[in-house]
Amino acid sequence: MQYEAKIPGLLQGKDRMLIGGEWSKSLSGRSLPTYDPAREEKLWEVPLALEEDVDRAAAAAQNAFRSWRKLDPFERAQKVTALANALRQHAEDFAILDAIDSGNPVTAMKGDVLMAAAIMEYFAGLAGELRGEVVPGKPGMLHTVFREPYGVVARIIPFNHPIFFAACKIAAPLVAGNTLILKPAEQTPLSALEMGKYAQEIFPPGVLNIITGDGPATGTALVKHPKIKRISLTGGVETGRNVLRLAAEQSIKYITLELGGKNPMIVFPDVEISKAVESAVVGMNFHWCQGQSCGSTSRLFLHRKIHDEFLERLIQRAAGIKIGLPLDPAAEMGCLVSKDQYEKTMGYIELGKKEGAMLVAGGSRPKSEIFAKGYFVEPTIFDRVEMSMRIAREEIFGPVLSVLTWEDYEEVIDRANSVDYGLTASIWTRDLGLAYRTAEQLEAGYIWINGSSRHFLGVPFGGYKQSGIGREESVEELLSYVQSKAVNTAL
Ligand code: NAD
Repeated sequence: MQYEAKIPGLLQGKDRMLIGGEWSKSLSGRSLPTYDPAREEKLWEVPLALEEDVDRAAAAAQNAFRSWRKLDPFERAQKVTALANALRQHAEDFAILDAIDSGNPVTAMKGDVLMAAAIMEYFAGLAGELRGEVVPGKPGMLHTVFREPYGVVARIIPFNHPIFFAACKIAAPLVAGNTLILKPAEQTPLSALEMGKYAQEIFPPGVLNIITGDGPATGTALVKHPKIKRISLTGGVETGRNVLRLAAEQSIKYITLELGGKNPMIVFPDVEISKAVESAVVGMNFHWCQGQSCGSTSRLFLHRKIHDEFLERLIQRAAGIKIGLPLDPAAEMGCLVSKDQYEKTMGYIELGKKEGAMLVAGGSRPKSEIFAKGYFVEPTIFDRVEMSMRIAREEIFGPVLSVLTWEDYEEVIDRANSVDYGLTASIWTRDLGLAYRTAEQLEAGYIWINGSSRHFLGVPFGGYKQSGIGREESVEELLSYVQSKAVNTAL
């Protein structure tokens, strides 16, 4: 295949992490395997950062903070833009690493790189928004507010879009004047380390540190580290709760969380069915990441009047998705990231059958010989799902879509809101008034009307309820990396 020749070169040096501008192994010498999920083979070993490594990274970041914060915000923005350019230039390399490390299709991963670069440029362009304020007061008094960075920030990211999160999540904190420790997920550390090669040339030592490791050892050490005052996690709800608890045991920290979802798509009977079917498939993120996306609209509420026709077309459309080996440029859907994720997904499929839902598409490994190995699962659709079933309530984080039927408007809203999550939602109808009234009632942070899945630069993304704290991808994200300092002057 066209990409395979590049792999040995790309893996070189990935046994080290970036701390204080230098590549180093963990002090303990311990490492962590990372796997190719399409081959079920070990791919590489990256360092397992323990407390002493986190301590080195925090010291380097704190040291670098002294001068980084003093740079003009536009100078910091230029460096973030330079990294975005490097990502674009080497998009194929990042995409190859993500494909072999995560199982996501290589073409989609190229798209992730370009999207991340655009987000980085967006935040670089917002540098001017770090301005302060003058607040009116009595004559003779001057009330000024400055916005200042926190210092050392930790960003902990998940496995589903490795380079996308690694790249776009560092932009806001760095532009705001913080220094950073980035920890990629243990399943997918390679592309973040690759990014470190370019970051090392662009940023002063210690401004961006990239350490590898797992949650229990490395993540915990980061969260508890006294020098780290600001933490941002993208991950599961349980991890979010752990991060809040562990941080609180150590001290008071500012934490934002982007967590999971079990998101509804509500389809009214007046829609153009072909468009809504396409949106249901795209919204489920079968393509791109095999349903492993927080924003996936994995609960599809179809109005009884259109249910049968919609479902028939949906099954047809899902069967047309091209599953392939992650490095196949034509693949639209690859494999799940790990054995755990595969077993979890297959477990939910079995559970769905036991709970009495009707399996109408997929449900197993694709038939072809090339998928005999690897964590491949067909696009799977259950019909006749009820909200009492666990497949309707719990985040599967795999390619499993639950279809529910509705007739009564108030009831469908209640059912949509009846889970603990509240990340995204999609509403399909030609009646915009009805759509807006529905949006008002849905407990979700990011809603599409006649759409799904897409994110838009500058539009705040984040969750209600258990789906998180804080908003990203917008000016709110940038401002969450500065604290205000009020200075009141008697003139
Ligand atoms: P995860 O919570 O298992 O891991 C996420 C990261 O947290 C990893 O880097 C992991 O090492 C780290 N971690 C784990 N335990 C930790 C601890 N105790 N302290 C500090 N760090 C710790 O999540 P995952 O399985 O990698 O990703 C899937 C989850 O992420 C899903 O629930 C998904 O919905 C969510 N997610 C949310 C968003 C969003 O924007 N809301 C985006 C992508 C993924």
